Amino acid sequence: MGQMRDPVASQRHSGPDSTALLDAGADERWTYAELDRAVERTAGRLWALGVRPGDQLGVLADTGPDFARVVHATWRIGAVLVPLDTHLAERELRERLACVDLVALLAGRPHAERARSIAEVPVESLQASATEPAEFVAEDPPPDAPRVMLFTSGTTGQPKAVVLTGRNLVSSAVASAFRLGVLPEDRWYDPLAGYHMGGLAPIVRSALYGTCVVLPDRFDAGRALSHLHDHEVTGVSVVPTMLDRLLDAGEFPESLRFALTGGAPTPPELIARCEERGVPIHPTYGMTETASQVATARPAEAYANPDRAGRPLAFTRVRALDGEEPLAPGEPGELVVSGPTVTTGYYGDPETTDRVFGPYGFRTGDLGVVEPDGSIRVLGRVDDAIITGGENVHPADVARILREHPDVEACAVVGLPDPEWGERVCALVVGEASEAALRAFCEGRLADYKRPKTIAFADSLPRTVSGTVDRETVRDRLAERSERLE
Ligand code: ATP
Ligand code: MG
Repeated sequence: MGQMRDPVASQRHSGPDSTALLDAGADERWTYAELDRAVERTAGRLWALGVRPGDQLGVLADTGPDFARVVHATWRIGAVLVPLDTHLAERELRERLACVDLVALLAGRPHAERARSIAEVPVESLQASATEPAEFVAEDPPPDAPRVMLFTSGTTGQPKAVVLTGRNLVSSAVASAFRLGVLPEDRWYDPLAGYHMGGLAPIVRSALYGTCVVLPDRFDAGRALSHLHDHEVTGVSVVPTMLDRLLDAGEFPESLRFALTGGAPTPPELIARCEERGVPIHPTYGMTETASQVATARPAEAYANPDRAGRPLAFTRVRALDGEEPLAPGEPGELVVSGPTVTTGYYGDPETTDRVFGPYGFRTGDLGVVEPDGSIRVLGRVDDAIITGGENVHPADVARILREHPDVEACAVVGLPDPEWGERVCALVVGEASEAALRAFCEGRLADYKRPKTIAFADSLPRTVSGTVDRETVRDRLAERSERLE
């Protein structure tokens, strides 16, 4: 990989008239030639602001065409883009700013005031950018120079600033194309936030491929489904709950060739729905530190094995480790990832970086299995494993059995402290099944020590803002329920 010209500049001559960007909300579109000019003006303005190669530029803005323009403009001048989560409270934003070294912050319209109150660097409006052309020096830094820094979701503690290089992003785009294919008429619908890897990837990749990314202003299932039809969308990137809502909203267009679901496990029920409706679902396992996808299943693989996330992408190697030792296929352990998409580390945090890199690559903190055919089954986080009477129980293994009961809609399994066993297995269940029926169901299906000792019921599972099950609240509810029983 040589010097890396920014992707929009690369399309300047190869496909100037093809559509680069479609704003689904406003029904506006930009060809590559138009986007290139807008990026040129934005790059000039960033330069005038004092942003130079290697400098970090913060962005606090909703994901849309203006955001995309800045993504490409920072690339053009060799700067590092640092997108910030617009939903965060001021204190949380300040914590993130303390982890990085911004030279300036661009704020989208509704976020300007908040940006000014948190930032100690110049704050400029994102929208006001692209009017006048200005001088700047385009820079094509080497492949291992940082391009983007993204914060992890903070599920397991403080969010970390993940450094992603040009090599990381381009390798991820290439490997993803090997799995999903690329067609000149592709239109990738991206309703995810650009401050997460899943939302940023389609913006960067479509430009690398010379295809079109479709950005809606916000996600609403009914509107999104019309967008898919109106713009003859060929691919979507969504979290599983969004796909569920899209399926509720109606039929998908024939043009759709992939629906990528990630960020959280794709529930087997959702995969079954897609199979019934002929929706080409591609369940994915990925994370910020690997520039998104680690593994992606093709639809037929997903229908056949709905509890797996498919095989790793090209160039990516996944192993399950027990401590420092690789395990045989089929054995559960910590998933460790190596390959060109893996981050160089966390910005300003060499201790954490050292801790997560071992001889086999990046330690994900996720517990999983590499099956004999190479496909990946993610069981949950290593820290969520329940140790009861010296035995390791994986909550996902127990939850999978409980969900097989016809009267269980959803469930979450956690460990609670137990004076005799260290921890005991507990389940919070949504559904009509009775406690006695569930206990009988588990006998013969689960080893004694894996069977839930406490079962409680709820109308729905508590969830975090990103839609994953809020395990802390599940634990609190089950603890309350156990106290009442004692
Ligand atoms: P933090 O690292 O700050 O605790 P996070 O790991 O939630 O936050 P992200 O990088 O946004 O931050 O999320 C990646 C994680 O999401 C993975 O490590 C994994 O735990 C979970 N995940 C992603 N895809 C899947 C999947 N298909 N099945 C199960 N878990 C998944
Ligand atoms: Mg993580």
